[in-house]
Amino acid sequence: MKLPADVLYIFNSLKPSASWLVGGAVRDFLQTGTYPADIDIATQATPEEVMERLTTAGLYVVPTGLKHGTVTAVFKHKPYEITTLRKDVATHGRHADVTFTLDVEEDATRRDFTFNALYMDETGEILDFFGGKEDLKKGFVRFIGDAATRMDEDYLRILRYFRFQARFGKEGLSVLLQAPIKDVLTEKAPLLKNLSAERVTGELLKAMNVERIFSMWPFMHECGVLQALHLQEGYDLSVDVNTCGEFLRLAGIYHQNVDVLQKALKLSNAQKKVLKQFEKALSVNADIPMAVKLYRYGLQATHAATLVQGKPWPNYTEKDIPVFPLTGQDALNLGMSAGPQVGEAMKKMEAWWLAHNFPTKEICLEQLKKEPLK
Ligand code: ATP
Ligand code: MG
Repeated sequence: MKLPADVLYIFNSLKPSASWLVGGAVRDFLQTGTYPADIDIATQATPEEVMERLTTAGLYVVPTGLKHGTVTAVFKHKPYEITTLRKDVATHGRHADVTFTLDVEEDATRRDFTFNALYMDETGEILDFFGGKEDLKKGFVRFIGDAATRMDEDYLRILRYFRFQARFGKEGLSVLLQAPIKDVLTEKAPLLKNLSAERVTGELLKAMNVERIFSMWPFMHECGVLQALHLQEGYDLSVDVNTCGEFLRLAGIYHQNVDVLQKALKLSNAQKKVLKQFEKALSVNADIPMAVKLYRYGLQATHAATLVQGKPWPNYTEKDIPVFPLTGQDALNLGMSAGPQVGEAMKKMEAWWLAHNFPTKEICLEQLKKEPLK
């Protein structure tokens, strides 16, 4: 087992406090032999010590979640989340009160699943308090401690269960549907309604990045998770996570009721914009040529709408989006005087160009000459 040199440098900079690689990074390394882009580090150093020691070591440090003990350090353009070991003192379903601790096992105990509580020390040795390595191998998504209690402590874990099940679970769906955990999930699912839109959105977007997430849909429906979150049933956008983008996969699920998506989730302005394009792409006549849709609604929104409509998606890329060949300067060169009429002429020309199957610049200029020039 070998730690990346950059992580080792951070560990050394945090000394004399001990540090560990933790969570997804250790889990994914065990499974694939490579480290993921997101790296979490747990340390005995307090957040203030982390800030001070890493700044001294030449890193750029941002106090991203100081209250919860988290600091983000940037090293060679890569972010590292560094969190002081914690334990819960009180949990409230939506959030928890924590204190810092020096005991790794206490920190491990507050994590959700056994394979998410693996720690790697500076020598590459792995600490595994709950048999997470074995569970990972077996594809067993096991809560640390009593599942019902852990869901009551933090309702988001109900949803996280399905994401990790889709990603690492090896049992067939039929087994899952009969497993005892199903009763617990079913009992607890309505609690998801109490979570903040931000947390639900964040978790759902992560879920949309999991290739097999839609294989969980029937199970999530049986447990009442889809209902609690107003997620639609019966959709499978499992094709092409990468090109479609996780946000539009999510939008696709909500496509019959985009209002619900807007209300239930907290969206960034960029996401709102893409969502508008997606709605438009869905509402136009399905027979409009693909190139016109690509031009009007962009690659992602057109892709998602095509999938939702159950149509095949030829592997279009940004390069397939037609580019309107004229600019206002062309109109001025032809003798049009500057003013709002230039913009109007361009609009007209653009509509003409779209309606005529994207003629070349030369042909467009010919057409522009025919337009009454003021
Ligand atoms: P991914 O590769 O999808 O990011 P991850 O395991 O890193 O997977 P994160 O959501 O980034 O998942 O969380 C990082 C770690 O923090 C988890 O591995 C887990 O140990 C812990 N964790 C995150 N959310 C919770 C939670 N709601 N309850 C308990 N532990 C959690
Ligand atoms: Mg992570």
